[in-house]
Amino acid sequence: MQGKRGLIMGLANTKSLAWGISKALAEAGAELAFSYQGEALEKRVRPLAAELGSDFLIPCDVSDMDNLDAAFETLKQRWETIDFVVHAIGFSDKNELRGQYVDTSLDNFLMTMNISAYSLVAVTQRAAKMMPDGGSIVTLTYYGAEKVIPHYNVMGVAKAALETSVQYLANDLGPQNIRVNAISAGPIKTLAASGIGDFRYILKWNELNSPLRRNVTIEDVGGAGLYLCSDMSSGVTGENLHVDAGYHVVGMKQEDAPDI
Ligand code: NAD
Repeated sequence: MQGKRGLIMGLANTKSLAWGISKALAEAGAELAFSYQGEALEKRVRPLAAELGSDFLIPCDVSDMDNLDAAFETLKQRWETIDFVVHAIGFSDKNELRGQYVDTSLDNFLMTMNISAYSLVAVTQRAAKMMPDGGSIVTLTYYGAEKVIPHYNVMGVAKAALETSVQYLANDLGPQNIRVNAISAGPIKTLAASGIGDFRYILKWNELNSPLRRNVTIEDVGGAGLYLCSDMSSGVTGENLHVDAGYHVVGMKQEDAPDI
C-alpha cells in the first residue's frame, strides 16, 4: 500500500472494526485520514490516528449532506486524489434493536436507513470524484441482512439496502475502475454492537456453531479490509466477503444429535 492514501470513516476506539482495518492498512504502508462524528470522538480518535502516523482528522456527520461536502472539501485541500475509502458506519435507536421488527417506527426506520445505508451512496458520490485513476470503497455489513437475527430488526433491513447499494454502486462505477465491496463481519463486541439486544448470546451462538468454532477479531476483519482496499483484489467488485468464521454456510445447529 506504499504511496496509497485513503479515508477511514467510523473509527471510535480500539474495539472498532475500523481500527482493525486501519492498523492493517497502516502496517502495509498506506497513508490514512480519519473522519469522526462530533467533538467527543475527536479526543479518542486523535491519539489513535497519531499511533498510525496520521494527524489528518476531519469532522463528519454522514447524516448531514453539507457536513459531508465540507469534509470532502477538507480532504481535497490536502490530498488532490485518494485511493480508497473505508465506510464503517451504522446507527439506529437502540430501543428498536430489541423486541420485534414489526414495532419499528417511521422516524427510526428513516434515520437508520439514512445513516447506515444511504451514507454509503453519499460518500461514494463524493469519493469517486477524487479517484480519477480508480479506487476502492469498502463498507461493513452483517449477516442480519440475509437472514433473521433476533433483535437486529431495522438494522438488518438497512444492511440489506447497504448490500444491494454495493452492487449498484459497483456497476455504476466499474467503468471508472472504482471497486465497491462489503465485508460481512461476524459479531464482535464494539460500541455499536453493545446496543443490540442479547448480543452476548449472539456471540456465543456464533462461536459454537461457525465452522472455525470461534468468533472473528478486528484483526481478521483488518486483513480482509486490506485485501479489498489493495490491488490484490483488483478483479473483485460488488462482492460481499464474509469474515465470520464461516458461519453463513451453516444450516443447522452444531451439537451432538439427541437420540430420536
Ligand atoms: P463502532 O461503534 O466502533 O463504530 C461505529 C461508528 O459509526 C462510530 O465511529 C460512530 O461514530 C459512527 N457513526 C454513527 N453515526 C454516524 C454519523 N451520523 N456520522 C458519522 N459517523 C457515524 O462499531 P463497529 O461495530 O466497529 O461498527 C462499524 C461498522 O461495522 C458498522 O457499520 C457496523 O454495523 C458494522 N458491523 C459491526 C459488526 C459487529 O459485530 N461489531 C458486525 C458486522 C458489521
